[in-house]
Amino acid sequence: MHYNHQHQVKLLSKQATRGHRGKQGMIKTYKFRIYPNNTTENRLQWVLDRCRELYNAALQERKEAYKYASKTISYYEQQNDLPDIKEIRPEYKDIGAHVLQNVLKRVDKTYRDFFRRCKIGQTPGYPRFQGKNRYDSFTYPDTYGLKVSASHVTLPKFGNVKLKLHRPIEGKIKTCTIKHEGEHWYAAFACEVETEKLPVSYEDIGIDLGITHFAALSDGTFIDNPRYYRKGEKLLERRNQALSRKKKGSHRRDKARKLVAKAHRKVRNQRKDFLHKASRQIVNKHQVIVFEDLQTENMVKRPKPKQDENGTYLPNGASAKAGLNKSITDAGWGMFVDMVSYKAASAGRSMIKVNPYKTSQICSACLKEGPHKDLAERTHICIHCGIVLDRDTNAALNILRAGRVQQSAMAVEALGL
Ligand SMILES: [Zn+2]
Repeated sequence: MHYNHQHQVKLLSKQATRGHRGKQGMIKTYKFRIYPNNTTENRLQWVLDRCRELYNAALQERKEAYKYASKTISYYEQQNDLPDIKEIRPEYKDIGAHVLQNVLKRVDKTYRDFFRRCKIGQTPGYPRFQGKNRYDSFTYPDTYGLKVSASHVTLPKFGNVKLKLHRPIEGKIKTCTIKHEGEHWYAAFACEVETEKLPVSYEDIGIDLGITHFAALSDGTFIDNPRYYRKGEKLLERRNQALSRKKKGSHRRDKARKLVAKAHRKVRNQRKDFLHKASRQIVNKHQVIVFEDLQTENMVKRPKPKQDENGTYLPNGASAKAGLNKSITDAGWGMFVDMVSYKAASAGRSMIKVNPYKTSQICSACLKEGPHKDLAERTHICIHCGIVLDRDTNAALNILRAGRVQQSAMAVEALGL
């Protein structure tokens, strides 16, 4: 399995994935940097500006229709106006019709999302006009006139634009989105790929994510955290200090800042690589994968300072927690669970999240509850049945059991029993 960081293959939102799963198809996006020459770049920007203008005009029309006439304008009504717009503003003839239709579809989607959220009782912000910095892409919603080679992409109404195809595109290209991010331009291709279902595995696994080991598995094995961040951190710290010594606005400061960013990037990429490999292993081997439903975001929050009766602040282990926080963010649990989740989905495997209730106190062998364990207690020695297990292995076994209970409950519900 090979993953490339610069051009991550990522699933579209869950909704999109579901929507496109018809015949075991799944949408993957491939994003490549493109290198337009000056003329082309100016034209890309020009198209982007026209699209944004159209977007804002369409939004305004809908807003006013609703405000003054309590009327909702549909996508098709707006689409039918496109020929008239081209009469009044002939420059719009230089932009592909499908690209313009896609702009109106974006407006339509914004409105649908807005109304959907209103319906379920939320209070979403009213759809907003898009400024130059927010509206940063336009889309070819089909492949008519679009071609990709190892060195170029042929865009309708533009011709060839240089591109670096770092990894082959799998599947069938469905759409191409041109994006302006910072100084750079990108082409993102949404492709429909046939998912390769892995043969059914009969091995299920419970996984306890932790600090001592990145993960403890219910089969007694562990995945260890490489702690790249700790190693990379030293380098980062040195570079940060070097940066702080440089004069503001100086050339050297700029250079130092780039080195800091580079160190950050390296740590991030190493971590992602580790998580990709570990999640791939898990999904390849197991049919049902059970995790604790951890609210990592809550765990990473800073602890609130505690006060005693006299209003004096008590030491609350904030510094120890900060260390724990670092390990948690460092370990990338959330990212790991996400990766397992989408790899499992495309391989026809299932992932279950269970309530992390007392998973370390309960004995996985006799199911009786024992005393609370300190973080330092690494071994589970059952006071009821006497079994001796690694603390995290015991937790992983409990997680697996909870997952099986949840799964059979779901099965019973599905049968309507
Ligand atoms: Zn026991």
